[in-house]
Amino acid sequence: MKIVRTVAGDITPDRLGHTQCHEHIFIERDKTTEIAAFTLIDSYENGVEELNLYRQRGGGAIVDAQPVMSGRIAEWEQKASEETGVHIVASTGFHKMIFYYDDRYVFHWDEQKIADLYISEVLEGMLSSHVGGNERLTCKAGIIKVAVDSGGLYADATYEKLHTAAAAAQRETGAPVMCHIERGADPMEVVDFYVDKHDVPAGRLWLAHTDRAKYDIPLHKDLLARGVYLEYDTIGRFKYHSDEHELALMQAMLDAGYEKQLLVGLDTTRARLKSYGAEIGLDYILETFIPFMKQHGVTEQQIASMTVGNPAEALSIEQDILMQK
Ligand SMILES: [Zn+2]
Repeated sequence: MKIVRTVAGDITPDRLGHTQCHEHIFIERDKTTEIAAFTLIDSYENGVEELNLYRQRGGGAIVDAQPVMSGRIAEWEQKASEETGVHIVASTGFHKMIFYYDDRYVFHWDEQKIADLYISEVLEGMLSSHVGGNERLTCKAGIIKVAVDSGGLYADATYEKLHTAAAAAQRETGAPVMCHIERGADPMEVVDFYVDKHDVPAGRLWLAHTDRAKYDIPLHKDLLARGVYLEYDTIGRFKYHSDEHELALMQAMLDAGYEKQLLVGLDTTRARLKSYGAEIGLDYILETFIPFMKQHGVTEQQIASMTVGNPAEALSIEQDILMQK
């Protein structure tokens, strides 16, 4: 049997409903928010307001893409999920190295200790925020977030160590891996590393931000031919490109028959959440982008795959793997 590991417990995949696979609902003050102020999402009440609006419009679940010891507030994710009824899948793993102070674990722990951290967050419970004292909570992570910067996965020994640890955690837990792809990085290198070199099944690997990092139709088809998921999460993110531009890429992949390998999200920031006074809210896909897709000929079936069926499959973990631990 397959389950999805959410912050409020394990659920069957069919309970997720409409799911956006890359969002940020809470981020505490840390180096991330110091260098990019628009990422500070530190009001619990605003997060609940955003989730309530999302639920009212038909939203069922989100993946929160903020990893451990990098601004994640796991205790709020759990509380807000229980309060609003929106399923939240939380991330363990790591972000780009520019988001960590010099004294952080990413630079000092060895590969095994890092793998053990990620495994323990999926199997036992996540660590609370810095403010919460990094204490072990009962709620668990359901995905392993990783990142490549513009220099790629082999940019330096720290990245290679972290990715190797994440691959080990994937094999041990069965949880999916979501990789942030920065502009300049080669997404195919990430597929080669995880799938060929480290035995991560292609269907467990998601490449995030490929729509803005590498807007290259033939390359996207080559990536999908390898069996991975592409996460199109630059919807309503006009500092990068228009929704028309986003849809053109999506349609090219749908026309090529890759309906079952696409995931969507908004990659929200403080500057784009209604509850913080911005124009776009967590409900933008439901309210605006889905009608826009329909108007341009994307079928109900294709929309259901990208927003319901694919996330359910992509987030599922074999319960047997988790039970053996
Ligand atoms: Zn993000």
